[in-house]
Amino acid sequence: SRELLARSDKLAAVGQLAAGIAHEIRNPLTALRGFIDLMYQRARSNNRRYLEIMRGEVSRMEAIVSELLRLARPDRPQFQQLDLVDLVQEVVAFMSAQALLHGVDIQYEPRAATIKVQGDANQLKQVFINLMRNGIEAMQPGGVLRVALWQEGGAARVQISDEGSGMSPDALARIGEPFFTTKEQGTGLGVMVSKRMVADHGGDLLIESEVGRGTTVMVLLPVANGDA
Ligand code: ADP
Ligand code: MG
Repeated sequence: SRELLARSDKLAAVGQLAAGIAHEIRNPLTALRGFIDLMYQRARSNNRRYLEIMRGEVSRMEAIVSELLRLARPDRPQFQQLDLVDLVQEVVAFMSAQALLHGVDIQYEPRAATIKVQGDANQLKQVFINLMRNGIEAMQPGGVLRVALWQEGGAARVQISDEGSGMSPDALARIGEPFFTTKEQGTGLGVMVSKRMVADHGGDLLIESEVGRGTTVMVLLPVANGDA
């Protein structure tokens, strides 16, 4: 886990300490959440509003703590040959409930029956979950998230396009920086973690975005050799 931390300059300096603090913060947060829930049950409606805000903020802290712990102690990657067409299909199915809640439709268009890559299934799923979630969160109800997948040369390409808010050049320059977020409940760690995982697979993650038009994220992964 030390080597993984060293790859991200900013986190390297504080990585171990952050992980220690994150761990220490987890238990008090659990207690806070429990008592907020208890108070909520007993509160008058005008106070419930404040407790809802507190619960939201505690959730945000929990999300940051979980991401920090995952960064400091990533599961040892288990590389194996897997079919990217199936894996992305699974993530699309998994995300469709969340998409529905946002009034967003996910359209999956694999342009191949099968594409083999060497990879860690859990990490790759996490990458596509993070990226699809961002696309969904960027859109208004009625939006469509397009997920396309094809092979070009030695690379598998997964393209995730939304019709959402898009990003300014400034935001685009900062995306993937630890803790860069424009969301009230954001952690600002999703893209950073995704970029690192894709890089660990020998791949690349590219983002194009235009304010008001939407964002396209492209994940490139090396295709496995036939007999690998
Ligand atoms: P979080 O989603 O917790 O904010 P991320 O690292 O996933 O953290 O994303 C960082 C920031 O990048 C987001 O807060 C948002 O401003 C911007 N962003 C990421 N994906 C998109 C997207 N598909 N459309 C518009 N903005 C995006
Ligand atoms: Mg995100």
